[in-house]
Amino acid sequence: MVVNYSSDYDVKCQLDTCKTYPVITDSERGEIVCGGCGLILVQNISDTSHENSGYTLEGFMKLARTGPATSLTMYDKGLSTVIGNNKDFSGNALSSKTKYEFNRLRTWDQRSKSRNTTTLSKAFTLLHGMKTKLGIPDNVVENAAYIYRKIVNAKLTRGRTMTSLVSASLYAACRENSIPRTLDDIANAGNVERRILSRDLRTIIKKLGLNLNQYDTATFITKISNNMNLKEKIKRDAFEILKRCEKEEITAGKHPVAQAAASLYISCIMNGEKISQKKFSVESGVSDVTIRNRTVLIKKTLKLV
Ligand SMILES: [Zn+2]
Repeated sequence: MVVNYSSDYDVKCQLDTCKTYPVITDSERGEIVCGGCGLILVQNISDTSHENSGYTLEGFMKLARTGPATSLTMYDKGLSTVIGNNKDFSGNALSSKTKYEFNRLRTWDQRSKSRNTTTLSKAFTLLHGMKTKLGIPDNVVENAAYIYRKIVNAKLTRGRTMTSLVSASLYAACRENSIPRTLDDIANAGNVERRILSRDLRTIIKKLGLNLNQYDTATFITKISNNMNLKEKIKRDAFEILKRCEKEEITAGKHPVAQAAASLYISCIMNGEKISQKKFSVESGVSDVTIRNRTVLIKKTLKLV
């Protein structure tokens, strides 16, 4: 039995005693049941599961009842029509006349795909490229594709480049899922000007009413220290410095990456590790002036030498 918790259907059991129990989706039976009393709330929902049995491609094809899982990152969500090869139902070759007819059909099928479909498929190819460059998990990419579809539906594509909009969607998705990637990381991977990316990002946040989380500075401390192979002690002290800064309320509204880099820099000094601010600046993508100013402020506030 495949059980997962669903948020697609907004149903809830009416009993008072069941209020705290989650609703359970049983996709094999196509039912949504109350987790408390077992009452069936929704029946005959569509089966969205897919096979992942079989260890070889051949085995998979033999067992599979469906294709791969549907995904928003495919321009047609993986549900396109494919006009098959030139065999009839019993495996015999088609006559040359029928074969010709099917070739024409295939051509027109391809030509009749709307312009929208073509641009979407281009955009998602780009998105997959960026995903590999930046090492971003699938669920975030899926989220980015969702945002990009919303951008297209809201007709925000006019006057903006596809690359910049795809990059902006990916950045927004990273922010929503707390995956630490800076605007510069994304701009580099997508090969767009940072200025244009941030302009388009502002537009889509406003127009789509996105609500992005503020990045957690701690995730950037982890990211930078892992990239630089710093000692565990240095990382832990940097967390400590960050915690004290938050207590002194000097972190609010400040660039989280710069705060992370400065905390790590101070922690390195405290632990007798000699790493230049320049090196931190290169690793974190924040200018060394910013790191220096942050460092001075933190030292002064926490009364560190
Ligand atoms: Zn119930």
